[in-house]
Formats: sequence, structure tokens, C-alpha cells
Amino acid sequence: MGYIQSAFENNHVFPLGPNVLGLEEAIKDYTGCTACTCLSSGTAAIHLALILLGVKAGDEVICSSFTFSASANPIVYQGAKPVFVDSEPNSWNMDPALLRQAIVDRLEKTGRKPKAIILVHLYGMPAQLDELMSIAKEFEIPVVEDAAEALGSSFKGQPCGTFGEIGVFSFNGNKIITTSGGGALVSANPTYCSQALFLATQARDAAPHYQHSNIGYNYRMSNISAGIGRGQMEVLDDRIAKRREHFAFYRSAFAGLVGITLQAEPSDDFFSNHWLSAILVDPSKTGGVDRETIRLALDKKGIETRPLWKPMHLQPIFKDCEAYVNGVSESLFKDGLCLPSSSNMTDEERDFVVESIKELL
Ligand SMILES: *Cc1c(COP(=O)(O)O)cnc(C)c1O
Repeated sequence: MGYIQSAFENNHVFPLGPNVLGLEEAIKDYTGCTACTCLSSGTAAIHLALILLGVKAGDEVICSSFTFSASANPIVYQGAKPVFVDSEPNSWNMDPALLRQAIVDRLEKTGRKPKAIILVHLYGMPAQLDELMSIAKEFEIPVVEDAAEALGSSFKGQPCGTFGEIGVFSFNGNKIITTSGGGALVSANPTYCSQALFLATQARDAAPHYQHSNIGYNYRMSNISAGIGRGQMEVLDDRIAKRREHFAFYRSAFAGLVGITLQAEPSDDFFSNHWLSAILVDPSKTGGVDRETIRLALDKKGIETRPLWKPMHLQPIFKDCEAYVNGVSESLFKDGLCLPSSSNMTDEERDFVVESIKELL
């Protein structure tokens, strides 16, 4: 609260101000990235990342299919074409073998390389970064890491968001920490961040009058939102600890149950913030009880759960896009359920969720 109050007291109620700079410093400290620009949303950060990487009308951009639509929409804002790549079953994120196949096939069919790869770490789980980054490097295609759900996650000790040419975080209301609405663009290359700042503040040239040589955007984070963010960064580690505790609880509670599996870290290389704990329900092993049966039964008891993200290649708006699929994300969507995972959930609430599911099985 102190950060917001001081913003009002000092009349810093505009974008750019001590809280924005303070939040950028906090994000740099936390993730070890060289440069950071806070923006009005994660979606804005992805949009600017694509502009900075030179994505233009007619270009193709590869994107994880198993994600929220905000990962892919900015491709279309640029007039470019999404090419979706399916998941692998361990991390639930982009399948390296399919990524390679997609790049090779696009090169063969269009004679051009995809301009960028948007790589998502869903529900906080890092993707198979070793393989994916080495393929991106081999073909010299820049990666935009959509770490909107993965602030505080890491792979082999390196924070998610710092692997790609550009990383993106979201502070939307539903994320692990929030500024009520906001995002950040991070990079090891400070030029990207200064360019992002320039474009996000209406691309005004250095002149006493208003002069513009570029199309600008109003994408900057407000000093008030950033004040909330500074306070939130101080509780981020507690939030992660809480979310990981929920996951550990669900994992041990479901350990003896046949047909229920969780999105678990595939090996010690992966550290997930476990933003959301998600399960898969295999009705062939639960005696016919499927995801929807569980969801509806929990709903009757006042417990809200959600199916997993519906893959982009199955979305009506993206039905005509190229997609390299293997059935993994489609089956995750069919059988998956996000369990209540909020940081302030009590032990009793958690027990009630587990007992309610066990009753059905
Ligand atoms: C939330 C989210 C975004 C968009 O972030 P906003 O701040 O809501 O614009 C992008 N990608 C993923 C995977 C998300 O979950």
C-alpha cells in the first residue's frame, strides 16, 4: 500500500514514475535479466516483441497451440500468420520434434523461415528448453518466451523468460501476482527494451513538438499499477511456495488413485511455480468417470474448476491456420481439469476438493 499512497501524495499518477522504474528494477533483480520495460499487459508485450523482431504482414510465426489465445492474437495484429505446434506429454508444452518438423516443412513449402517462435510455459511449467532453444538456434529463429504464467519458474536454475531473445510476463488479475492489469517485456538486449518503451509511449521523436516517424502505441504501465506490482514482487516467493504446496498436497492425495495424473515436473531440471495445479482424468481407468463428471459434481458443491486451455488449432478463429499436431493438446483439453489453486485457499478447502473427487471414484 505504501507505494501507491506515495504515488498519490507525490502526484505521480501517470505512466512513467518512480513505481514503474522500481518495478522494472525488482523484475530485473528477480529474473537476472539485463533490461525490462513494464507495459499495460502481457498481450501488449507479445505484440511489441513481434514488432521488435520485425514481424510483418505475410510473415509466418510459430506458436504453441496449447495456450491462451493472447499468445497468438498479436501475430494477427501484425497481419502475420500463426503456425501452431502441438505439445509433448511430459511438460504439456511445445514438442521439440514437431517444432523441427514445422520449421523444415514451412521452409520447403514457402521458401522462407518462420520469422519468430512464441514459446509458452503453461500453468508455470517450463517447456523442454534445451531441445527447443537448440532448434531455434540451429535455424536462427528468434524466440519470444511467453512466460505470462511462469514468473518464478526456472529450467536448470535459469529463470523462465530469460531464454528467448525476448521474454514476456503478465500481471493480469488472474496471474500469480497482479498489478490489476499489466505486463513486462524483458531481454538481455537493452535496445529491445528501450525500443519497446519508445513504441509503448506513442513513438514520439526527440523534438520539442509532437513528431512521429513510427506508428506508436499506448501500452505503458501506469505508476499506480506499478505501485501494486512492487508490493506484489515482495510476496512473489510466498505465493510460489503456497502454490507449490497446493500441488504437493494434490499429488500425494491422488497418489493411490488409478486414472488421475498431474502436470508434474518431468525431472529435477524443471522448477514450476505451479500457478495452477492441473489433473488428467483417464475414464478408461476410473471406471468411466470422466473430467466432465468431476467438473459438474464439484460445481454442484460450489467448487469452481475449469477445463484446460482449448488448443489454438481447434479454435474457430484459427481453424484455417497451419498446424503441426500429434493429438496431445487435444487429449489434454478433453481430459484435463484445473483444480482450485489460489494462494489464499485454506487446508480445509483443499481437503474438501480432494474428498469430493475421491467420492466419485
Ligand atoms: C494471461 C496470458 C497472456 C496475456 O497476458 P495479459 O496480461 O492478460 O494480456 C498471454 N499468454 C498467456 C499464456 C497467458 O496466460
